[in-house]
Amino acid sequence: MIKPPPLRNDCFALPAGVNWTPVDAALALLRDRLSVVAQAETQPLAQALGRVLAQDVIARRSNPPQANSAVDGYGFAGPVSEGAQALPLVQGRAAAGVPFDGAVPARHAIRILTGAALPEGVDTVILQEDVTTDGNQIAFHGPLKQGANARRAGEDVQGGDLALATGRVLTAADLALLSAVGVAQVTVRQRLRVAVMSTGDELVEPGQGAGPGQIFDANRPMLLAMVQRFGFLPVDMGRVGDDRAALRDRLDRASERADVILTSGGASAGDEDHVSALLQEAGAMQQWRIAVKPGRPLALGLWSGTPVFGLPGNPVAAMVCTLVFARPAMGLLAGADWQEPQGFDLPACFEKRKKPGRREYLRARVRGGLVEVFASEGSGRISGLSWAEGLVELEDGERHIRPGDPVRFIPYGSFGL
Ligand code: AMP
Ligand code: MG
Repeated sequence: MIKPPPLRNDCFALPAGVNWTPVDAALALLRDRLSVVAQAETQPLAQALGRVLAQDVIARRSNPPQANSAVDGYGFAGPVSEGAQALPLVQGRAAAGVPFDGAVPARHAIRILTGAALPEGVDTVILQEDVTTDGNQIAFHGPLKQGANARRAGEDVQGGDLALATGRVLTAADLALLSAVGVAQVTVRQRLRVAVMSTGDELVEPGQGAGPGQIFDANRPMLLAMVQRFGFLPVDMGRVGDDRAALRDRLDRASERADVILTSGGASAGDEDHVSALLQEAGAMQQWRIAVKPGRPLALGLWSGTPVFGLPGNPVAAMVCTLVFARPAMGLLAGADWQEPQGFDLPACFEKRKKPGRREYLRARVRGGLVEVFASEGSGRISGLSWAEGLVELEDGERHIRPGDPVRFIPYGSFGL
């Protein structure tokens, strides 16, 4: 399979003249401009969980492959009219995997078990609980519709039909479906390699001594873990100080080792914001001022052709921007369909006045059917990220939320965490 084309230099260019880009416009742009960069490969089903289909998968066989019984009981030709019925039993039985070799004559019945192929002459099954028998015949009460308690051949999936489409991220249930229709291997994308690096002179590694003014690097472990949860391959590129030469060198190495680079910190336009400065220098940088809280400017660009998401340094903003923007974007690079997180409208148990003109994400969780939000909206409050089990998404307009009003809760799981 040939390598997909490289991304265009202007793939992150926002429309001219827009000051604060609405979240939906930013997402629409990513959706429009980004395409798969991961190559295809063939994998056995057992290795395919979480992988992205690179080709449509066609059912090699119908499910079920033949008509069979849905219950333990007795099979015959239906329908049966109302009232008391008696049918003589033929010798033998039909069981799952051990079909009855022969035909069942009209007005006769045969012992049949769940999953057994319907013998010739049988299209209807009665539950054993509804029958009395002396071993030679069965007695029961009609009526019974033709086809009762039987599964038709191909009623689930027809052989030759599309089982799953390109772009699907394979789930456990998908592996059951593909197995059932006789598919043993699939063409999937190689896992997207995602480099993660932290930037800032203040950062030290947890476990090391931290002097005054130093803080432990919290973003890198978080982002590496998120990348893994999304089904991508995390590539740990460590920490870099606020030093342009060192950062340049690290970006070079990351672009050799990965398909996409996530940096955190240094993405604004300040003196020590070297990520944005370097990407700008490379001539392929866009400063994204998105109307979202939390979230400072995002720096998006290409470094030697590798897309870079320059995330804000604040851990809360870094996580929210990753969930909202970087994840669906990386999904496209990985070959997946555009992923929109599924949210649920639930009553709030808090009050909040929200200004118009930007979208807001609050750290939230659900207790007793009500949505709670974290006590502080401070974007350095990492404990709130951990306390929360999802985000509340507040639309761009003005809002005054009172207890009991519906709010959109998006569980972390809906974001792939
Ligand atoms: P910056 O975006 O570099 O201006 O950083 C914004 C804030 O986030 C500052 O308070 C930084 O110290 C903090 N910060 C940056 N990177 C990290 C990190 N990896 N872990 C924890 N906090 C960080
Ligand atoms: Mg910094």
